[in-house]
Amino acid sequence: MAQGLLDEVMMNTALVEELADVAKDEALLQGVLMRIQETPNSSELVTYAPFTLFPSPVPKAVFLQALAVQTHYNTLVDKISQDTDFLQEALASTIEVDDFTARLFRIHQQILKEGRSQPVVLGLNRSDYMLDQRGDKPSSLKQIEINTIAASFGGLSSRTADLHRHILKVAGRMEESQRVPDNNPAAGLARAVAKAWELYGSERAVVMFLVEEIQRNIFDQRYIESELWKRNIPTIRKRFDDVCKSGCLDQSKRLSVDGKEVAVVYFRNGYMPQNYVSEQCWDARLMMERSLAIKCPDIGTHLAGTKKVQQVLARPGVLEKFLPDQPRVVEQIRATFAGLYTLDMGPDGDKTVAMALAAPDQFVLKPQREGGGNNIYGSEICQVLEGVKDSTERTAYILMDKINPVPVQNYLLRRDAPLRMSSCLSELGVFGAYVKRGGDVLMNECVGHLLRTKSSEHSDGGVAAGVAVLDNPLLV
Ligand code: ADP
Ligand code: MG
Ligand code: MG
Repeated sequence: MAQGLLDEVMMNTALVEELADVAKDEALLQGVLMRIQETPNSSELVTYAPFTLFPSPVPKAVFLQALAVQTHYNTLVDKISQDTDFLQEALASTIEVDDFTARLFRIHQQILKEGRSQPVVLGLNRSDYMLDQRGDKPSSLKQIEINTIAASFGGLSSRTADLHRHILKVAGRMEESQRVPDNNPAAGLARAVAKAWELYGSERAVVMFLVEEIQRNIFDQRYIESELWKRNIPTIRKRFDDVCKSGCLDQSKRLSVDGKEVAVVYFRNGYMPQNYVSEQCWDARLMMERSLAIKCPDIGTHLAGTKKVQQVLARPGVLEKFLPDQPRVVEQIRATFAGLYTLDMGPDGDKTVAMALAAPDQFVLKPQREGGGNNIYGSEICQVLEGVKDSTERTAYILMDKINPVPVQNYLLRRDAPLRMSSCLSELGVFGAYVKRGGDVLMNECVGHLLRTKSSEHSDGGVAAGVAVLDNPLLV
């Protein structure tokens, strides 16, 4: 267990209980909100979004390293998204066995055949990291994954820095309160969306948030909506079903939904198979992709965020191909890669299988899924691999080195959960935003961060999955 700056405060149970009460009220005051599970589609009853009582220590150098590499990740994702040969080759084995990725890929193929109708690209992503600790060496920043679709918590995390600062001040820790860095991803994400909307060039056209059936985390998105309305940019929230029923393209492929022309489709849904409850949802996705609307993300960018692509990028020479003559940038990106291994049929994949079976606790087995709770760990890796190792089914997965952060103590505040100290692990996310028109890069920025922390009993799962909670770095 790491020795924390706040150990003394954390051990003082009476103070902790008092602080927890203060913290919950302050979270509500700041708007760190979520709807309650019982009524996820109504704002009559809301609660605080789950969060840690204290910020968690993150070495400043590593934090700055993560921020500094983000614009390069933006560039890389964009280049991958436009490289159809690369995507085809990287995903060839995956789409033979993974139906979801295959369907996305087919949409991509169809768009290529028809030709892209919209030269403007709007990318909002979040690159996630954990700090790997091996022996006495300093902790090193390792990428868990990059989310190129529906990356969440840019809204709520814009309000949690003040929340943690407040708690620290009430705890009498003024000095520490200044070590919580400023953060406002909502503003940066909205700035990029606003730029794309302007480039679309119609004042009447709207930004459409494509939202889920169940919307507990609506406030996270509302922050971005509010920022857009402040700029007099109209937004609407629609589900797949609404697009199926009232969406259409005109002769110039302009998309309208509910009678309103759509300038930007911002996907906060559509990233997992369960989101497509019927064939009509897939038709709707295709229609949106074909349209003149600016898609965030477009289908190529969605595919660029798959775990298979992440694994292929880690092969020798691949980064160099995307970033020729930029050895320093390549080095900066590669420094954040953990070991990633193919399960394609052939000797390399066979080697991966043998390696995983010999030491399953050192790896994570990942299918092409998003949203938390899909990965396979420990002895279950052996069970799954024993079942698929001799068939092409294994190519639905990739294998990754397991990152081992040092646990730190904290209290996780969650409605209806008892207050107790837990041993916790954190994951640092960095938000990237970029806008391009044709070959011109009009914006490419790192717009903020997100720290999520979970009890170390859990190996997987995000905030939405009910495992992790919102946190902030305490720079040390
Ligand atoms: P998803 O797209 O579902 O969020 P992730 O790759 O982010 O998939 O994995 C989900 C969670 O599993 C992460 O938030 C992290 O807690 C854990 N995890 C993923 N990869 C690793 C890894 N290589 N080492 C340790 N934990 C991991
Ligand atoms: Mg993900
Ligand atoms: Mg993740």
